[in-house]
Amino acid sequence: MVNKHLIPRKIDNKKLLEAFYKVPRHLYVPDRFRRFAYEDYPLDIGHGQTISQPYMVAYMLDLLNIENSDKVLEIGTGSGYQTAILAELAAEIYTVERIPELMITARNILDEQGYKNIYYRVGDGTKGWEKAYPPTQEFDKIVVSAASPSVPQSLINQLAERGLLVIPAGARRSQDLILIEKRNGETIETRHGGCTFVPLIGSEGWDAE
Ligand code: SAH
Repeated sequence: MVNKHLIPRKIDNKKLLEAFYKVPRHLYVPDRFRRFAYEDYPLDIGHGQTISQPYMVAYMLDLLNIENSDKVLEIGTGSGYQTAILAELAAEIYTVERIPELMITARNILDEQGYKNIYYRVGDGTKGWEKAYPPTQEFDKIVVSAASPSVPQSLINQLAERGLLVIPAGARRSQDLILIEKRNGETIETRHGGCTFVPLIGSEGWDAE
């Protein structure tokens, strides 16, 4: 997968590629799709949700330039695959998922894989890590894995100075990948191409259909 789908598409961050080599994606994919686990497309994980396309995960994390001292907030745990990649690269991962069943499945696999640097919360991630334990208030990096009509203000508030946030934002069925950097309390926004994610559903996202 790495050699066929990531390196040819200009993902050349060595640490990122190593994490992709290391994490077995088939563990995070439902049994019936295991034979497709190393193909470059999203797969159904139930509850109307998908495990993201590997290239898209790589592209978003490359934009974030994850460092090993980073505290990372992930919104949309889903299968837990990206959570595992993040846990290989950063110091602490705080991950939020709104569908309890998906969180249970993801957490079981991540626990089995021995990750000790992940904190989990079931709830509305458009509000970030609000009122969750441990009481972390600011994150070096934030990655949103579901599509929002706009960038939730709560997430901007929880981004540290010089921090980076990546989010697909736009229409319900097609979006642009947006990178936000916080500098001197101001946000600088750049756009990084079109994409398609499942909707981010919550008080600062979309209404449930
Ligand atoms: N990175 C994950 C992506 C899963 S799809 C993976 O590759 O498996 C996006 C996920 O975001 C879904 O599981 C969906 O339930 C979740 N989601 C949608 N709105 C959310 C919200 N407001 N808070 C937390 N999770 C949300």
